Amino acid sequence: KQILKTDVFGKRYVYMDTTESTNLEARRLAQQGAEEGTVVVTEEQAAGRGRLSRGWYSPFGKGLWFSLILRPDFAPVEAPKCTLMAAVALTKAFHKMGLTDAGIKWPNDILVNGRKLVGILTEMSGSMEEISYIVMGIGVNVKTKQEELPEELKLIATSLTMEGIDIERTEAFKIILESLEHQYYEVLDSGFEETLNEWRQLSVTLGEEIEVRAPGNTYEGVATDIDEDGNLLVRIPDGTVKRIVAGDVSIRPR
Ligand code: ADP
Repeated sequence: KQILKTDVFGKRYVYMDTTESTNLEARRLAQQGAEEGTVVVTEEQAAGRGRLSRGWYSPFGKGLWFSLILRPDFAPVEAPKCTLMAAVALTKAFHKMGLTDAGIKWPNDILVNGRKLVGILTEMSGSMEEISYIVMGIGVNVKTKQEELPEELKLIATSLTMEGIDIERTEAFKIILESLEHQYYEVLDSGFEETLNEWRQLSVTLGEEIEVRAPGNTYEGVATDIDEDGNLLVRIPDGTVKRIVAGDVSIRPR
C-alpha cells in the first residue's frame, strides 16, 4: 500500500476477507460519507454481481474484486462515461503488464481473444441534477486456472494467469489503480474526448458485424462508432443507424 503512486485512489482502503459484494459495501460506506477514492477490496465475494443481477464468479484469492467510490461534480447523464473511462484505464494497465491482446467490448467488458478478463459494474446515486456518488465495481480474474472455472465459464472467461501473465495481485492492483486515477483526472481536467478516442482505439467491437439485444429490440448490423455520450452506433442492413444506449452485444464470427 505504501508503494502506491496514487494521490487519491486507494488512500482510504477497506480490506475484507470475504463480503457479499464490494459494491454493496462501498455503497454503504458512500452513504456514510466515505471520500472519493475509497477502495473496498475483498478476497472473495459470496454474491458478486454483474449487470442485470447476473452473477460474478469471485473465488477466494484468485482475483482483484474491488469497488471504487467516485464523487465527480459532473451531471448524472455523464455517469455512463465513467464506465468507458474505467475500461480504457484497465485495458491500458493490461497492455502495460504485457497483455497486448486485451480489448474492450462495448460497453464495458475487457476481453482477450473473445474471453472475458474483467467485468465492470457502475452504480450511481444522486438526483437528476447532481451525482451524490458513483460506485464502480471491478472484477479482474488474476490467478484463476482454466480447470478451476465453473462449467458455464469454461469457454467464456480468462485470467491473467491463463493468458501467461505471471503477476502478483498486489502488483497488478497497483498498476490498475494508478491507471484508473490517471485516466479519471485526465477526464476531470480535459473532458471525455481524449478518453473516448482511446476507447475507440482499444475497442474490439467497432467495425465488427454484431448482434445487439437492446431492451425491446434486437439488431444485427455493423458497429460503426460510439457517440460523445458513449452510446453504440449500429448500421443495420437497410442503412439506418441505430443508437444503442444499453444492451448485450455479441460479435458474429466471420
Ligand atoms: P455482460 O456485460 O457480458 O452481460 P455482466 O457484466 O452482466 O456481463 O457480467 C455477468 C456475466 O459475466 C455472467 O452472466 C457470466 O456469463 C460472466 N461471468 C461471471 N463471472 C465471471 C468471471 N469471473 N469471469 C468472466 N466472466 C464471468
